[in-house]
Amino acid sequence: MAYSLACADSGAKCPGKFVTETEKELLDHVKLHMGASHPEMMKNPPPPDALKKLIKHV
Ligand SMILES: [Zn+2]
Repeated sequence: MAYSLACADSGAKCPGKFVTETEKELLDHVKLHMGASHPEMMKNPPPPDALKKLIKHV
């Protein structure tokens, strides 16, 4: 069981995709990625619930 999130699923034109073993690690990666690739999102970060809806269990 792993947790996966594809940035494109949020509507962003971005090839970013993350797969981790824990949900917490996944959210940490997503936060780092947002800071690096989507600084405009960091000004108005999506609520954790919205992020969690994008997570797929693979
Ligand atoms: Zn992205």
